[in-house]
Amino acid sequence: MPIYKAPVADTLFLLNDVLRIGDHGELAGFSEASPDIVAAVLEEAAKLAEQQLQPINLPGDQEGCRRNDDGSVTAPKGFKPAFDAYVQGGWIGLPFDADYGGQGLPYVLATAVNEFFSSANMAFAMYPGLTSGAIAALLTHGSDALKSAYAPKMIEGRWTGTMNLTEPHCGTDLGMLKTKAVRRDDGSFALTGQKIFISAGEHDLSENIVHLVLARIEGAPAGVKGISLFLVPKFLPDASGESGKRNGVSCGSIEHKMGIHANSTCVMNYDDAVGWLVGEENRGLNAMFVMMNEARLAVGVQGLSQSEVAYQNAVVYANDRIQGRSLSGVKNPEKPADPLMVHPDIRRMLFEIRCVNEAGRALALWAALQSDIAHKSADAKAREKASDYLGLITPVLKGVLTDRGFDNCVKAQQVFGGHGYIAEWGMEQFVRDARITQIYEGANGIQALDLVGRKLPANGGRAIMAFLADVGGWLKTNDGDEALKPLLGPLSQSLGHLQQASLWLMQNGMTSPDNAGAAATDYMHLLGLVAMGYMWAQMAKAANSEANSGRPEFIQAKQACATFFIERILPETALRLARVTTGASNMMSLPAELF
Ligand SMILES: Cc1cc2nc3c(=O)[nH]c(=O)nc-3n(C[C@H](O)[C@H](O)[C@H](O)COP(=O)(O)OP(=O)(O)OC[C@H]3O[C@@H](n4cnc5c(N)ncnc54)[C@H](O)[C@@H]3O)c2cc1C
Repeated sequence: MPIYKAPVADTLFLLNDVLRIGDHGELAGFSEASPDIVAAVLEEAAKLAEQQLQPINLPGDQEGCRRNDDGSVTAPKGFKPAFDAYVQGGWIGLPFDADYGGQGLPYVLATAVNEFFSSANMAFAMYPGLTSGAIAALLTHGSDALKSAYAPKMIEGRWTGTMNLTEPHCGTDLGMLKTKAVRRDDGSFALTGQKIFISAGEHDLSENIVHLVLARIEGAPAGVKGISLFLVPKFLPDASGESGKRNGVSCGSIEHKMGIHANSTCVMNYDDAVGWLVGEENRGLNAMFVMMNEARLAVGVQGLSQSEVAYQNAVVYANDRIQGRSLSGVKNPEKPADPLMVHPDIRRMLFEIRCVNEAGRALALWAALQSDIAHKSADAKAREKASDYLGLITPVLKGVLTDRGFDNCVKAQQVFGGHGYIAEWGMEQFVRDARITQIYEGANGIQALDLVGRKLPANGGRAIMAFLADVGGWLKTNDGDEALKPLLGPLSQSLGHLQQASLWLMQNGMTSPDNAGAAATDYMHLLGLVAMGYMWAQMAKAANSEANSGRPEFIQAKQACATFFIERILPETALRLARVTTGASNMMSLPAELF
């Protein structure tokens, strides 16, 4: 059976010593998040993840979800008690407003614990995860009546949430969606249509399921400008606000898929289902973007989460399994072979995974902190900058942490040799589960297009220019730091690559959009590499300043990983820049029929 130990010490190091969340006491919820509270929350989350969620991960994958003849769906054994424990712990409400029953703690803390839950059991964590996204959209765009009727029960976890965008003929291109909404006399709407691939669409974990559904009101314009967002509950609330009559929404079937077997992926049929408008008519995509942006960050964290748990298991295996002898002489003379850990190629794989994981965690938490600042700061300039950063980094987190997350799971599986391919070790599950993160919530190619097409040029390139200036400024400030010197030169060079690529895109992407499309994925990875390099430089600085803190091994590992990342992973920025600046002609000139 695979193991999992939540990275509590690493997360505390990031929150307290690198991001210094204690300096943000002016933001709502931050003064309550004292170092003791933060440590206690992480410890409790670790307990739930390690003791309840992780043990049902592999069995849940093997059993999968079952659709019954009456259209109900049963989650695997152990999921209902685990969900009850999750609800009891108040985990869904952690970042939400106390007015609706939440705990009002920082979003950055919620992001940290979500990684633990997702590493322990990604399929499970999606049920509350989608609920959180739906709550965020409802609280931002819902009417007061909808908010008070639904948000408290969802925050409590008695009712869960889903996100319904995809239809059989449209996934990326939502402008084509057909689900129809007809106005009813009482101000509600009747929705008819079919949605596919709806995660957590039907299950037996909660009393009610609240679907957020994109549909087109009769007579609305074609394309994305005619889409509205609706709230459609499985059970309509009765006079007392509890689950009442069954609504016209049902699960037609569940998909048989590559991974996340314990999360029900449903075809949802809407047949004159009663729904209420969320936000303005024909501005549904705008309202849904609250949920989608939150979900994109969460999916980036899912990529990291699978990479982390795969790494931990690969380390145990590399220390246990003996095979071959060390190139530099026998290390284990009393045994017939040395452990895999002595081999440089095994260490290469482990280092590559770990260095990306730790930088990815830092970047995800940094992004979540930007979200806290963007939503809660009293300073308009600070809100604007944080919001720019969040917009810029969200597609990068989603695309880069999931591309690297999947690659890392494959690397960790490789450490196991043939045993990694055998189900009982659990490694092939991590690979299968990680794979979906590159696809849903907007496939990664679409994230890259969002970055170069929308986020980069927005406000005259304000976000990327601020990022380049901030990293450049940090390098200058730390110029005299002898211990950091070996890291600063390479980071400065990579920052130059990002600058050149950004300039090239601004000059060549606007005039020829295919240039932007052809460069998008490489640019996204280039920005991700520089951002992770920046995280490593800051982590190294924080670690150096803690050199005498009484945990020499923690500090030594941080310094070794910083060096490895900067020397062996960051140089990839030169390759990415070279690809970006070749332009589109090498991709676009071959006629379609010659492929
Ligand atoms: C397990 C699972 C769970 C899911 N959960 C949900 C859910 O809860 N709610 C929900 O609404 N949906 C959900 N989805 C749907 C998912 O978000 C879509 O599958 C995804 O957005 C891609 O849409 P598509 O499958 O129609 O692919 P397509 O849109 O057909 O895209 C196919 C490929 O073409 C690329 N492509 C498409 N258009 C362009 C373009 N203009 N430029 C460049 N490249 C392009 C894409 O990047 C992709 O690689 C889920 C899917 C799965 C498999």
